[in-house]
Amino acid sequence: MRNVVIIGSGCAGNTAAIYTARANLRPLVVSGHEAGGQLSLTTLVENFPGFPEGIMGPALVENMKKQAETFGAEFVHGAVIDTDFSTRPLRVNIEGDWVDTRTVIVASGASARWLGIESEQRLIGHGVSSCATCDGFFYRGKKIMVIGGGDSAMEEANFLTRFGSEVTLVHRRGEFRASKIMLDRAQRNPKIKFVLNTVVEQVFDVSQSVVTGVRLRNLRTGETWEQDVDGFFVAIGHIPNTKVFKGQIETDPDGYILSKGGARTNIPGVFHAGDVQDRVYRQAITASGAGCMAAIEAERYLEQEGH
Ligand code: NAP
Repeated sequence: MRNVVIIGSGCAGNTAAIYTARANLRPLVVSGHEAGGQLSLTTLVENFPGFPEGIMGPALVENMKKQAETFGAEFVHGAVIDTDFSTRPLRVNIEGDWVDTRTVIVASGASARWLGIESEQRLIGHGVSSCATCDGFFYRGKKIMVIGGGDSAMEEANFLTRFGSEVTLVHRRGEFRASKIMLDRAQRNPKIKFVLNTVVEQVFDVSQSVVTGVRLRNLRTGETWEQDVDGFFVAIGHIPNTKVFKGQIETDPDGYILSKGGARTNIPGVFHAGDVQDRVYRQAITASGAGCMAAIEAERYLEQEGH
């Protein structure tokens, strides 16, 4: 029987692990499919307090893990494939093995949303990317395309002008979800060309295993055309990783956990931390803060239950 199982090993999960380990709760951390979370996909992090020169994302999250292990946290590879929160103890299935636990901290994060067309999926890592910070460097002097009309798309397009010879931003509507300031910045950037009311029909060239171009379609006129592209960046939002909790933990219509105050979910003993509940701030530091909150709530819950 575990005191606490932490699902996810990004900033939120690792910080929860540090706190619960220091409280002598010997947490079990399930690393998940994307061990280290989104920080493991970034390069330099310049806004995490305490690092005046910045720190590389993977190093930051690895340091957190080591810190948690120092105090007795146990990490297990693999993912949670099922849960049963209808009984006491709570039950979590890790790659086929059921583990009993008194509390659970859900820090499973959010994953990049993709367009879902087959050619895009086949070319992920071969010119198709969801992370400008991680992959922009590879497209120095090359033709870059960014998909989306939100803040992420504006931010990525701006960032990518540092590398690309040209950046084309393709958005399916004529209006933007992006905030005015981010949109203005992108519109003022002479290297960014906007293509609106347009969708991507195909990414080429699967047969060569590398991105060479796209076929686009204007939704207003029906016109289709092909354009040469080397780097194809999809920035259309994220999907919270809550599938395995469906029907148990309450979520909003997009799947983000609905907080019941503090770090509490609708299920006593099950707490949330990080991007799995936060669609607004989504920062390493806020995820870490949320991990701390969840750990303190788990400790107090266990104390109240007499453990
Ligand atoms: P978002 O605001 O949900 O925007 C997603 C964009 O992708 C929308 O323009 C949407 O089009 C488009 N889209 C979604 N599915 C699509 C599909 N299948 N095909 C084509 N286009 C599709 O997501 P986000 O930009 O990632 O931002 C998420 C949150 O993080 C926001 O609250 C944002 O303010 C915040 N954020 C802030 C900053 C910053 O301030 N520095 C940076 C990044 C993100 P429609 O508009 O037509 O739906």
